[in-house]
Amino acid sequence: MATLRKMTEFGATIKGNIAYKEIEGYQFNFVENQIANQHIFMIPLVATQQNITVLKNELKGPSKSLKLSVTQSNASMVTFLWQGSLKGLNLQSLKEYTDGLVAVLQKLSIQPHTLCPFCEQGEPDTTVSINGITVKGHEACKQNAIQELANAPVEVKKNPFAKSLFGALLGAAIGAIPWILVDLFVGFFAAILGVLIGYSAFYFYKKLGGVVVNYTKYIIIGSTIFGVIFANIVIATYVIVNSGGAIVFGNYVVVYSDPEIGPILLQSLGIGLLISLFSLPTIFKKVQSEEDTRTVIE
Ligand SMILES: [Zn+2]
Repeated sequence: MATLRKMTEFGATIKGNIAYKEIEGYQFNFVENQIANQHIFMIPLVATQQNITVLKNELKGPSKSLKLSVTQSNASMVTFLWQGSLKGLNLQSLKEYTDGLVAVLQKLSIQPHTLCPFCEQGEPDTTVSINGITVKGHEACKQNAIQELANAPVEVKKNPFAKSLFGALLGAAIGAIPWILVDLFVGFFAAILGVLIGYSAFYFYKKLGGVVVNYTKYIIIGSTIFGVIFANIVIATYVIVNSGGAIVFGNYVVVYSDPEIGPILLQSLGIGLLISLFSLPTIFKKVQSEEDTRTVIE
């Protein structure tokens, strides 16, 4: 979030993961996308086909030095990408490219889109933030919309608990297969593949009709731990069968307490759990991004 923090120094206000600043009537909504190392922002503009074509040509040609491109547009919102290095993004470069873009928009007579998002009439008297993105609108329309949202019945989606839990456990077991195979047949220390277990658990959770709800992440943690332990037990089973033993509880005790094999198995289990747990924040983010989100108007 380093870039967003920089945005407050730049005079922007931050809502969630969007930083907002109005520059000469143009409403910059900066979205941070750290994964792709990209700097994306949206501006509500009067974006006719012709305006967009002229703008694209300008940014590719005469104003190439701004390192900006248009990535998406609809009639009222244009998304830009700044292609400079995020490492080089400082207040100076922020000011340069935003002021540069404002100058380009003014030169091309591309006006900010100022129609109210609710009634689509002009003469806005306030700013409205819809899911963090700030546009212009009417105070009365905004209050109406907030009221309507508050009165709307909350649609609660029910998660088929048993089925989705089974899916997550199945997914974790399937996700553990590459680990088991590499461990057994390549003899390579493969606990790093434990990361796959969480992803696979979440994938099969959804495949079996699981709905992403507030406890989904706990099911995924539980299943991931299950998957890691499952992989370890399968490897222990292989050791037992390979030495001609029967699959009985007593033999597992023998294998895990064997002075040579025991420590290897337990170390593999420990590292596998550690790696899987380290990967959970990333999986959580993925789960959360798919959670049902309600529209928020401020
Ligand atoms: Zn309105």
